[in-house]
Order: sequence, then C-alpha cells, then structure tokens
Amino acid sequence: MSTRSVYQDVQKRFHRAADLAKIDSSMRAILASNTNEIVVHFPVRMDDGRIEMFTGYRVQHNDARGPFKGGLRFHPEVELDEVRSLAAWMTWKTAVVDIPFGGAKGGIQIDPSKYSQSELERITRRFTFALGDNIGPDYDIPAPDVNTNARVMAWILDTYLQTRAPGARHNCTHVVTGKPVDLGGSLGRDKATGQGVVWTLEAWAKERGFNLAKMTFTVQGYGNVGSWSARLLAGYGSKMVAAEDHTGSIANPAGIDCEALAAYVRVKGGVAGYEGAKAITHLEFMAAQTDIFIPAALHNQITLETALLIKAKVVAEGANGPTDIEGEAILLERGIDVIPDVLCNSGGVAVSFFEWLQGKHDQMWSLEQVDGELHKKIFKAYEDVRLVAEELKTDRRMAAYVLAIRRLQRVYEQRGIFP
Ligand code: GLU
Repeated sequence: MSTRSVYQDVQKRFHRAADLAKIDSSMRAILASNTNEIVVHFPVRMDDGRIEMFTGYRVQHNDARGPFKGGLRFHPEVELDEVRSLAAWMTWKTAVVDIPFGGAKGGIQIDPSKYSQSELERITRRFTFALGDNIGPDYDIPAPDVNTNARVMAWILDTYLQTRAPGARHNCTHVVTGKPVDLGGSLGRDKATGQGVVWTLEAWAKERGFNLAKMTFTVQGYGNVGSWSARLLAGYGSKMVAAEDHTGSIANPAGIDCEALAAYVRVKGGVAGYEGAKAITHLEFMAAQTDIFIPAALHNQITLETALLIKAKVVAEGANGPTDIEGEAILLERGIDVIPDVLCNSGGVAVSFFEWLQGKHDQMWSLEQVDGELHKKIFKAYEDVRLVAEELKTDRRMAAYVLAIRRLQRVYEQRGIFP
C-alpha cells in the first residue's frame, strides 16, 4: 500500500493531463482547485444514551458543466484529502460520460459495522441537517458510494424534505439519486455501475479482438459494483475464478457461481467461508491466473508492490482510484490494458442523471429505456476516450482526463469568469 496521499496522485495526474491538453495557466489553476470544502462536526445520541461526535465532509470540486454530483461514503478512512480526490474524479467522470453535472463527493468518517441501524439512521439524518443548504436538487446531489445504499438515500431525502418550508417540499425528490424505486428512484440504478463496467469490457474486447465468453475474471470487492459486474459478466459466459473483500480471498479455477456468491454475501456479510471455493491469501488473489481483473473496492490496491503480480490482460476499474501512479506504469509497461475509473465506473452516475431527469419531470422510464440510454452513453464515452488516446498517443486514463479537460475548457471559454 502506497503511503503517499491519494490526493498527490490526483494532482500529479491532473497536471500531466493538463500538459497534454495544453491548457493555459488560469484554466489549470481553476481545475486544480476545489470550489467548496465543507467539514461538519455533529453530535448524535447512541442507543445506550451516550452522545458521540462525528465528522462529515462534502467537497464540491467543480460545477461549470452542471450541479455538483457525487456519492457519500461511510468509512473509517474518510478524510479531507480522500474526499477531495474523489470529488475531482467525479468532475472528470461526469465530463467523460458527457452528462450535465459537475463533481463532488462526501462522507462520514465512521465504521458503519460498529453501529446499529437506528444509530446509522440518526447519524445520517443529523449529517444531512448539518449540510443544510449545501446540498439541493439543482445544486449538489448526493448518491450512494462505499457502505451507503438506497436506504441511506431515503433517510437523506426524508430529512431534506422535513427541513424545507411546507410549500417547498414537493418537487425536490431529486435532491439525491440512488433512491429506492418507490421513492422516485430509477429502474436500473442499482446495477448501473456494474452494467457500465461490463459494457466498457465489451467495447474493449471488441477493440482487442477477444471473446468475453472464453475469458476468466477476478473481482476485488463484492458489494454493489463488484457483485453486479460479476453477475452481468457471467451472462456473457465469462468465468469468475477468484474474488476477495474485507473478509477474505477465495478461488476456484473451475469457476465460482456469481449469483450464489452474491446470495451468500447478503447473508454472511462477506466472501470468506463460501463453500464453492477455497480460501487463498491476498497476494495469491492478486497473482491469480485470469484474463480480466476488476478492482471494485477501495483506492490504491494496485501499487509498486502488487502490480507485478497481476496476470490479467485488462484491469477494469470498477472502484475509484484502485491503481496508483507506479502501479499503473508497471501494468502499462507489461502490456496490461487499464480501463480507467472515470470511464469504467461512469455508468452509476450516468443512470443517476437519468434518475434526476425522471424526478425533475415526474416521469418513470422503463428498464429498457434506462439501459438503452446507458448503453449509448458508455459506448460513446469509450469511443471518445479511444480517439483521444489515438490522437495523443497516450494511455486511456490520460486520454479520458484530456477529454474531460477539453469539455470543461469549452464551457469556461464561452462563459468567461465572473465578474
Ligand atoms: N458513487 C458513485 C461514483 O463514484 C456514483 C455517484 C453518483 O451517482 O452521483 O461514481
């Protein structure tokens, strides 16, 4: 694990892309900064009557292309630099997949497994209250991320609505996306990130002349993104040979049943102990013989230490920031393709945009319509990135960043800077 802050990598990669895009120094200064950084400390009563203090964050990186947009995560390692990194990635991601949103991210520094459901509900509601008007349906729209889900979004929505004036309560359910479908969520949002991951893999396989039906894959993280990616990829006939999460690592060269593992994880909370595979170590997992590796957990997993172990032909970044700078250099040197996070996992926020549109216009799209629109977005974004990579003779991540920077630059050129 790299000891360097993930935010230093974010800045370094941005400046490399800014060099490639040949943007001027004022544009560079704008995009290198965050617009707003909100830190809140708030008290919550625990089930046993004690009061505990919590720290929550919301970093709003850029809103030149539209309202701030990005998830909220609950994790003990959430801190300002991590949230800054994730917020900047959201700006590049929304620009790459070409939806009219900016980038933001937030979270609470908390290990959610240590709290009861009612405590988590009070923590979420008090955090929402503390954020106040720093979020809003046409201003900054949170969504699920690591350890948050539709239920957490429902608590945020309800708290937000209860704190509005009575006459202003309606028509703002699009203050969050990734909501339960009954509360104005979108069909297809739950699987959207995984769906995007497998469609980028489909595009990659076509470009490279591979047949997904004959390929094996491994997945790190078996939460929303990892398990949906695995289940959808299995639908192509690809075979999952290893998986891991915070509870352990498992392998079965004959194949692991992705649906059965998802059902097991829902009950047991993790992949450890799954009877259809044998336990292996983390390093054995990283070194597993596979064609496709899908990191879908946390950042900085593919580093100087682990990149040399990877045997895959492609790394499809379901997670945000799973590959650090040295790790990526090693992969590319070894001829391993990387589908970068800002392209690979952009399906989630793309369907968040569709959910937001449906909420704003009081509509309900069919699953076919959601999937059809997402399919267009993902294949177009993949092709746009490929063309920039070809033009600049650079890797896919730098190409995706340059594509995003160019799209943002066009907005600034035409709008100018106030006053
Ligand atoms: N948390 C997801 C991401 O990192 C989704 C964000 C959203 O839908 O706003 O892309």
